[in-house]
Amino acid sequence: MTHIRTLILGGGMSGLSCAYHLKSDYQLWEKSDEPGGLSRSVKKDGFVFDHTGHLLHLRDPYTLTLIPKLLGDNLVKNVRNAWIYSSGAFTRYPFQANTYGLPKRVVEACLKGLIDAQLASPPTPLPVGEGGPPKAGGEASPETLRKWVLRTFGAGFGEYFFFPYNEKLWTVSPDALTAEWMAPFVPKPSVAEIVEGAFTDRTQQYGYNATFLYPREGGIQSLAFAFAKSIKNIRLKQEVKTIDLERREATSASGETLSFDTLVTSLPLARFLALAKPLPSDIAAAAKTLRWTSVYNLNLGIQRPRLTDKHWIYFPEKKYPFYRVGFPMNFSDKMTPPGCSSMYIEIAYRPGQPPDDKKTLQACLRGLYDCGLLDRNDKIISQGVLQIPTAYVIFDKNRTPSTNTILSYLKSQNVHSIGRFGGWKYSYMEEAILEGKATAEAIDSL
Ligand SMILES: Cc1cc2nc3c(=O)[nH]c(=O)nc-3n(C[C@H](O)[C@H](O)[C@H](O)COP(=O)(O)OP(=O)(O)OC[C@H]3O[C@@H](n4cnc5c(N)ncnc54)[C@H](O)[C@@H]3O)c2cc1C
Repeated sequence: MTHIRTLILGGGMSGLSCAYHLKSDYQLWEKSDEPGGLSRSVKKDGFVFDHTGHLLHLRDPYTLTLIPKLLGDNLVKNVRNAWIYSSGAFTRYPFQANTYGLPKRVVEACLKGLIDAQLASPPTPLPVGEGGPPKAGGEASPETLRKWVLRTFGAGFGEYFFFPYNEKLWTVSPDALTAEWMAPFVPKPSVAEIVEGAFTDRTQQYGYNATFLYPREGGIQSLAFAFAKSIKNIRLKQEVKTIDLERREATSASGETLSFDTLVTSLPLARFLALAKPLPSDIAAAAKTLRWTSVYNLNLGIQRPRLTDKHWIYFPEKKYPFYRVGFPMNFSDKMTPPGCSSMYIEIAYRPGQPPDDKKTLQACLRGLYDCGLLDRNDKIISQGVLQIPTAYVIFDKNRTPSTNTILSYLKSQNVHSIGRFGGWKYSYMEEAILEGKATAEAIDSL
């Protein structure tokens, strides 16, 4: 049996980055026939689609150097142009800073709610440091998303955006969600800015993703390929089937067994725990509490140039089946054949209950005609569906205590569970890349 110092499971951004930065010996096992994980792209009928939108929001000086080094001149910079469609109007993102253009009754309800919330209690700090990444090991917030929204923005903003939007995205009620994940992802404009944004079309940018980088050609998977080019020991089509934590051995679907000193896994935590043996009963019990959503990604190629200049649009209202629609042709003009536009449509669902293809296409087209994004004469020349079975970790009351218990046990077993799903959190590619690097450095320092 071969012995290796480090076995890395999963060739998404976190696993690739770990392998890229490791100096000591390793093997990377990836079940797919291509690297990239969620950051893979598909080419169809001359269009390029990611698994919905995958944009590079970089803030760290290291990634700001690394990504151009890997992609060279295959990189474009965009200033975010994100919108919300509700009550028959398009308003700028974020909703809470830009109600200008909505019907008067909606603006009034939002501002009245804000005033009531301000009078009821002075604003308190967000549960996690604003601007920083969500911490997998942070304190469980006892506050529900609903209470946080009511306290921070008031009932009107809740009713017209936060409650319906989050229920669509997470597939559970805002009462069942905690507010822990929100700080880095939900901009918090001042009261003065919110009031001004109700009366003026402001263009001030908010939030962690005001600009983004994107590969000029090839979609986001270009970055995964660039990483993979510098990685020697990547084994594709190598799916791990069992992990013996006592014997420190992993066996693949093809029957190959490898022994290791250190294990790095970026598999969804619940999936990893289903493959790992033996597990103490409290870990097995904690694993049972982990919940997540899946995403159905419908991609359309349309024979019409530049059907919008927007990058993506949020749809909070129930009558639209999708929570967001994005436009790859505006990330880079190499994403479509000349004279065409493209869109990705995102629909969240509970694991194991995917929506019906035919009904979903009809419902999406109805929604797109209704809001005016598509015209009934538009010719759809490409169409495809991508599934993301593990898309968003549900932050319910069990998520943080269970994740902390599981991750500290794995750490005691010299298992580094990293990335968005290994760490069981809400995070993005930059964090996965940095975590892969930090893990490699920790292993090499021993
Ligand atoms: C809808 C959506 C939109 C997003 N948009 C953005 C965005 O715009 N910008 C951004 O920065 N981030 C975005 N993200 C987050 C981003 O996808 C993740 O942070 C990042 O891709 C996580 O990389 P990872 O390596 O941790 O996990 P993954 O990419 O999930 O990689 C895990 C790998 O493990 C492999 N694997 C699974 N099981 C096995 C097995 N048994 N054996 C071997 N290999 C296995 C998988 O095939 C996969 O390649 C988005 C996520 C979603 C769901």
